[in-house]
Order: sequence, then structure tokens, then C-alpha cells
Amino acid sequence: MSWLPGVQRNPAPVTGGSFVGPVTIGVIHTTESSTFRPDDDSYFGHQSWPHVTFIPDDRLIYDDAVWQHIGLDVAARALQNRSGGVETNREGVVQIEVVARAADPSWSKGNGRGVRNFRRLMAEIEARTRIPHRCGVEFRPYPQSYGLKARQRMSGDQWETYRGWCGHQHVPENDHGDPGAVDIANLLAIDLEASMFCRLGDEGEAVEHWQLKLRDLGYYKNADIDGKYGPATAAAVLAARRATGSTVKSGDAITAHAKRQIDLLWTRWATDHAKAMQAHQRTTRQNERIQALERMHYEPGSENCVPHVPAITS
Ligand SMILES: [Zn+2]
Repeated sequence: MSWLPGVQRNPAPVTGGSFVGPVTIGVIHTTESSTFRPDDDSYFGHQSWPHVTFIPDDRLIYDDAVWQHIGLDVAARALQNRSGGVETNREGVVQIEVVARAADPSWSKGNGRGVRNFRRLMAEIEARTRIPHRCGVEFRPYPQSYGLKARQRMSGDQWETYRGWCGHQHVPENDHGDPGAVDIANLLAIDLEASMFCRLGDEGEAVEHWQLKLRDLGYYKNADIDGKYGPATAAAVLAARRATGSTVKSGDAITAHAKRQIDLLWTRWATDHAKAMQAHQRTTRQNERIQALERMHYEPGSENCVPHVPAITS
């Protein structure tokens, strides 16, 4: 599935076209913007859309921190692609714009909710592509990372064989130095698949995640999204699993098998209800998001990553 489950959507009016090969690289950008309005298309004034915009704010749950603009099966447009040389946007790359500044990579450190949200975003993308859970490059601080010939930047050959996560600062034919000295080891530190497992009596974000999904599916009704795995959550898990044809007798745990079953239901639901969901987001949820975002403030950066030169020239 090329659209991530649960997250906000603001579909781009254009894409970067088809990929030239399998998706094996994840590229991290920073927006360098002083404000971010996910509902405002003019923010992407040069139509340099990424696949996903991520808001590193510890106050936001995952579903609210992630906005998807382009399906993962087609190219985004946030990289420059000079004539000749290699493909950039179309080289099997998923691109994330983080609402942050290259000179301040503090969003990538520690273990706050923002970092945990980003780890999950990477894992969700990895599960739908062939991007491995690794990084083989050094993220250098900005502005030292700026320049077409900055020492961390890959050659065309290195780029075409790279597999894993990197930054705009590593992409050939580009001079931008974002996202700066991101703590990529910290972002890659957790096994997200396993962290989504939980059971009766557990409390936390994994439980909250399943409550949200089960609510979407109609199995978790009249109960709070409180992150507590109690009888109401267990009943909803059981009902959802049985809806897949399973004969399980208990909903007391989200195991790997239960996760696959519920994810399958959710994917079907999201496909069937995509339009309704978008309308729902734009009315009841989007206003809250925008109010939250307006409270956030970022210092203007000295490098503007957002108005990238449009990459698609033909
Ligand atoms: Zn960038």
C-alpha cells in the first residue's frame, strides 16, 4: 500500500513521475521554514513536494505528526536533478521533509515522543518499500554540509547502489546541506515492529495506536483513546480478529499475527473510505492540527530547503 495508514493527507497536485527502479533509499530533508501550514499549498510554492512532511513535536501523536502528500509508489519532487548524470527524485527514493532547521538537529536526539514518532514513520515506510533499516553515511553539521562537493556527498555511482537512509546533503547533483547533523543512529535505534506488540494490562503508545485503528474500524466504540489495554480494547481486538475469519477466542494481546490481521482490515477500510476520511480530516481534525502548528515557531534558517529547483524538466 502506497499510502501510510492513519496519517494526515494533503495530496500533492503533481508527482515526480515513475521510479526507475525499486525503492531502496530514504532521504531526510529539513524545511528551514519559520512556520508550517500543512493545509496551505503555497508552502510548496515551487511544487517541490516530498512524499511526507513530519512535525517533530512531542505534543503530537504519530497520526497527527505525519502528513503524506504523494504515494510511495511514485517519485516526489524535493531534489534537484541536473541534466546528465544520475536520476535523483526518480531513483527509488522516499523523501521526508522534517519541519526543522538543518543548523539545529536537536529534534533527532533523545527518546521523546517526536523521536518515537519518527522511528515509527521510518518503520512504516520500510514495511512498504525495500528500504533497509540502516544508514551507511555520515550526517554532517550544517553549514559545513553545504555544497555540491561537500565531502559527505555521494558520487553518482555511490548513489545508484546505496541502500538505506541518508539526507539531502548526501544526494549527488544537489548542493543543499540539510538536514544537518541528524542523530541517525538514535533514529534507527528501535525495533518498531516489536514495539507495536502489547497485551492486556499494558499502557502506552502502542495501545493507543491500536485503539485508534480499532475505532476507525468500528470495533472500539464509546471508549476513550487512553492507551490502556483493558477489557474494552481486548473485546475490540477479538472482534476485529474474528472479522478476518480467525477463530481465536481471546483478544488479550496484539501479537505479530494479530497485527497482520488488523493491519489488513485497516488497509481495506482506508482504501474504501479514503474520500470520506479526507473530508473528515479536513473538518474535525485539521483545525486542531493547524491551531497546534500555529503555536510552534521556528527561527528562519539561512538556507531555504523548501523552494528547491523543480526537479522534473521533461
Ligand atoms: Zn532538502
